[in-house]
Amino acid sequence: MPDLLAPSMAKDHPNLPVVKAKGCYYYGLDGKKYLDFTSGIATANTGHRHPKVVQAIKDAADHLMHGPSGVIMYESILKLSKELSHVLPGNLDCFFFANSGTEAIEGALKLAKHVTKRPYVISFTGCFHGRSLGALSVTTSKSKYRKFLQPNGLAYQVPYADVKSAPDGIDPETYVIEKLERDFESLFNHQVTPEEVACMIVEPVLGEGGYIVPPSGWLKKIREICDEHGILLIFDEVQTGFGRTGEWFAAQTFGVTPDIMAIAKGIASGLPLSATVASKELMKQWPLGSHGTTFGGNPIACEAALATLEVLKEEQLVENAKNMGTYAYEKLMKLKDEHPVIGSIRAVGLMIGIEIVDPFTGKPDGPALMTILDKCLEKGVLFYLCGNHGEVIRMIPPLTVNTDQIDQGLAILEESLY
Ligand code: PLP
Repeated sequence: MPDLLAPSMAKDHPNLPVVKAKGCYYYGLDGKKYLDFTSGIATANTGHRHPKVVQAIKDAADHLMHGPSGVIMYESILKLSKELSHVLPGNLDCFFFANSGTEAIEGALKLAKHVTKRPYVISFTGCFHGRSLGALSVTTSKSKYRKFLQPNGLAYQVPYADVKSAPDGIDPETYVIEKLERDFESLFNHQVTPEEVACMIVEPVLGEGGYIVPPSGWLKKIREICDEHGILLIFDEVQTGFGRTGEWFAAQTFGVTPDIMAIAKGIASGLPLSATVASKELMKQWPLGSHGTTFGGNPIACEAALATLEVLKEEQLVENAKNMGTYAYEKLMKLKDEHPVIGSIRAVGLMIGIEIVDPFTGKPDGPALMTILDKCLEKGVLFYLCGNHGEVIRMIPPLTVNTDQIDQGLAILEESLY
């Protein structure tokens, strides 16, 4: 491990040394080509170094390299706001641009507190929202993050939808909705009153916590509870956004519109850009100067985002995510039937989790997963892991992926299962 980098920047695994990337592939220092099923954790939705995005970046660098927005204004940031508002649901049409998902989350939490003037936040177990102190205080995707919970006593936790735990004979959707109602009743009776809660923050599909897809009724119920009590709903769409779920955003996949959304990762095909998004009405109530960033909404990143939106539309990549997602899911379900080491497949669009279990006990098996990932890498496919026990292989290829690449990747995964 290069000791010039902090250990958290140079993890042992997989840490593939690469020299370049193009489309669905990384090119290793070892001269080998690797099929990329990680997309920079859902960042390279248009594929690595899409020519249109690269050209937009070069052209932008010839004109204007830095804002900062708020001091000067430039066309790309205005154009991007307009284009984004066309693909976002409801009246989410006002933007605070930043650089990372974490900053967009911090902005969302601050905005909710300013608007409601209430102190508390409710988040859901297993969700990941970033690693700044505010974002960490609502994050529990790994047990090591739990110790950061409530550093200032502001966040309460409610369990995420666990469809698998539904007893036999009970419809899983009914089960998780009834459980949610009971969990909230208990929270509001014993820990915090609804009138003290500014917002709820949730990943509409659980990402780092293990790729869990809740039924749409569960998210609709959360929306209802928020509306009943004047609580604002924040969707963290940092990982689910920009076509990953087979719709532009998970909000559209589940038919639930939040009050505030955080978007990042896939927005600019790899350049640092993110946004806190809300209606103009809410944004107007955000006091000037209470949130800010020097580099946020950088003009080069904005041009990269405009090109990204164009490519997603022109190449129908959102539709491709839906179609390729279905294709991969069906193949994976066959693999699951044949290989008891696969516990479950959780998928929406090209956001796919493959749970690895001990075939005898059915329990999550993180160490077995590591061996599988190493073998896959040796044979030329890069996967990454997620889940509280590192037990879920995440399969998130660029949205440009085709059936041949899926066939190739899954054949290698099958060969590597034991
Ligand atoms: N929220 C979610 C759902 C994420 O997956 C991530 C990153 O993995 C973040 C927030 C934090 O984003 P960033 O790493 O850009 O700060």
